[in-house]
Amino acid sequence: MKIRYLGTGAAEGVPAVFCNCPACSKARLRGGKEIHTRAQVLIDDTFGIEFPPDAYLHALAYHLDLSAIKNLIITHSHMDHFYAHDFILRGYKYAANMSSDVLRIYGNEEVCKVFSECTRRELKDCVKPHLSIRELKPFTEYEIDGFTVTPLVAQHAAAEQAFVYLIEKEGKGYLHLTDTGRPPESFYAYLAGCGKKVDLVCFDCTFLRFTKGEIGRHMGIEDNMAVKERLLSMGVCGENTRYLITHYSHNSEPLSENLSAIEKEYGVTALYDGMTVEC
Ligand SMILES: [Zn+2]
Ligand SMILES: [Zn+2]
Ligand SMILES: [Zn+2]
Repeated sequence: MKIRYLGTGAAEGVPAVFCNCPACSKARLRGGKEIHTRAQVLIDDTFGIEFPPDAYLHALAYHLDLSAIKNLIITHSHMDHFYAHDFILRGYKYAANMSSDVLRIYGNEEVCKVFSECTRRELKDCVKPHLSIRELKPFTEYEIDGFTVTPLVAQHAAAEQAFVYLIEKEGKGYLHLTDTGRPPESFYAYLAGCGKKVDLVCFDCTFLRFTKGEIGRHMGIEDNMAVKERLLSMGVCGENTRYLITHYSHNSEPLSENLSAIEKEYGVTALYDGMTVEC
């Protein structure tokens, strides 16, 4: 899998939309790799994870054809992961010569509701055939265009059951663990039961050097290491598994020197916007 991380910031972005804190001011001044837009991942060019408000910006910045995304899985309905208003533009006079005729969107029950709410006013009848939305159930394997996708449960939102995903293709396993705090026991129980191994793990590291322990709805690097140790002890991860961190909050001051220090100390790769990782 060729996994491209288009956005690596938390909901507010870095620099944050309305913020002038020292970290945001520095990031704004420096630009480049100090900018972390909202979460979006593209695997092998046509399989997406999340559709944030910055999807359009990502298309411009990385010369992407968003109409080529055939399948899109969503972790949860928070606006930094699912900005559904844009989908009204997928057809009619707004879009010609789309590379894929239909975009199939998959998510939890709340994602399906948010899709309906956000498109209710402006989605034209003639655009509807170019979109489909399907609810996924946790701990169920789905075959989607050559990928095996298993939604697992996150510890994240009170109002909905947010998912994290196990994504497999051609013998490789990728665990996408954002947004979540330290995952619940049912997450580990499923992985222990299915006997699968993963080659790459991407952690929610919103808090960087801060930690909330068991109660957090996001993680810091110490939480990530606790999850890593548990996955190693279960045999889900092995000595060749690689670890990535993403979804930084401006409150954690994710300036490049701070991310580099964490990489050295913990043996992880801190993602930047636009980075590609092979799995
Ligand atoms: Zn988020
Ligand atoms: Zn700030
Ligand atoms: Zn969230």
